[in-house]
Amino acid sequence: MNPPVVIVIGAGIVGCTVAHQLARSGASVRVFETRQPGQGATRASAGILAPYIEGHGSDALRSLGLRSLDLYADFMDRLIADSGADLIYARNGTFELAFDSADVKRLAALAAALARQGVAHQWVAPAAFKNHEPAASPAALGALLIPAHGFVGVTSVTLAAAAAARKQGVEFITETGAIRIRALTSSRVGVDAGGATWDADRVVLAAGSWSSQIVVEGAAAVPVTPIRGQLIELQSEPGLAQRVIWGPDGYLVPWPDGTVLVGSTVEDVGFDERHTDEGVSTLRAAAAALVPGLAGAPLTSVRTGLRPRGPDDLPILGRSTVVPGLIYATAHYRNGVLLTPLTVQLVDDLVFDRGDDPALRDLAPARHGRL
Ligand SMILES: Cc1cc2nc3c(=O)[nH]c(=O)nc-3n(C[C@H](O)[C@H](O)[C@H](O)COP(=O)(O)OP(=O)(O)OC[C@H]3O[C@@H](n4cnc5c(N)ncnc54)[C@H](O)[C@@H]3O)c2cc1C
Repeated sequence: MNPPVVIVIGAGIVGCTVAHQLARSGASVRVFETRQPGQGATRASAGILAPYIEGHGSDALRSLGLRSLDLYADFMDRLIADSGADLIYARNGTFELAFDSADVKRLAALAAALARQGVAHQWVAPAAFKNHEPAASPAALGALLIPAHGFVGVTSVTLAAAAAARKQGVEFITETGAIRIRALTSSRVGVDAGGATWDADRVVLAAGSWSSQIVVEGAAAVPVTPIRGQLIELQSEPGLAQRVIWGPDGYLVPWPDGTVLVGSTVEDVGFDERHTDEGVSTLRAAAAALVPGLAGAPLTSVRTGLRPRGPDDLPILGRSTVVPGLIYATAHYRNGVLLTPLTVQLVDDLVFDRGDDPALRDLAPARHGRL
């Protein structure tokens, strides 16, 4: 098999970055997308890279997140070199505020766990906020600063990956309709899409929340549920906040130009991608609680996305046991952006048969049935 022909289904951050890397590795790649690149959950993502916060209750998620975070700098360097794009990427930490004694206790437990693991962190008393985040709420009782964390501009990363992929010869076929996948002889995979039939050596299913709607002959539907998230953008003066500020009811991400992303809601409302007035006002209140100077800041945009959630909150990533050549790369739920560099590496290794990474054991599609 040299070079492999690969079809990637879905052009969110996972599909675009996987396509880019596969083309770099020498594959001949086509991407099928029902809309345009960068839609789905990706368009609403805050881009926070925070495995010690998100993975606090799950060893598996934390260790995947940490591995992926370690890959981030090289991943961004490759993307910037190949696309020529100017991308937002900061590794200046998260500042998690505590507003009551329960928050303080929880953050103290997290700080103790970080100390045992030798991870840099700092408890910041309110009197010292002026040295780190002067605009953070004076009502807070303290904050846990974790310097390893950071954030990335997700839409620009995804569109840069699509542009870099195109430069490497990847073809994007957009506005495709329903997709059906089936096994062909000699381990090749057939894909029916948009009234045409295609075949490939490998197919990567990266359709996020819509993965369940793609028919794979002989296999069960992928158990991915859409979980809506709303996110707003406010305009403030640049430098009001330096880093991600996190709190019990939301978080904010300060971009260098003064844009502040504020997220996010978590709603089980099916495939409804509309935003709501209630969602916007909840997020406005969350922003003002974290940084009072944001009260009344102009609202410049509202975005919604459907996070692809699997039954155990971990990605579904690995080979199909039903259709040889089919690889699932979906169900990244709340951490798809954090987990992108690791996902790209794992899928690249699977496509090129470089041996199975131990991380795939926790992520095997077959743990959820006939997949
Ligand atoms: C409000 C919000 C905030 C978030 N914040 C963070 C964060 O701070 N950090 C983090 O790591 N993660 C975050 N996430 C999660 C992250 O955005 C997702 O995990 C990630 O975007 C999933 O990417 P994906 O490419 O798998 O799916 P998607 O981005 O949903 O892309 C799937 C694509 O498949 C396409 N598609 C659908 N059906 C078909 C079909 N039949 N054929 C072809 N294509 C199809 C869709 O149109 C879509 O473009 C957030 C999500 C939301 C909603």
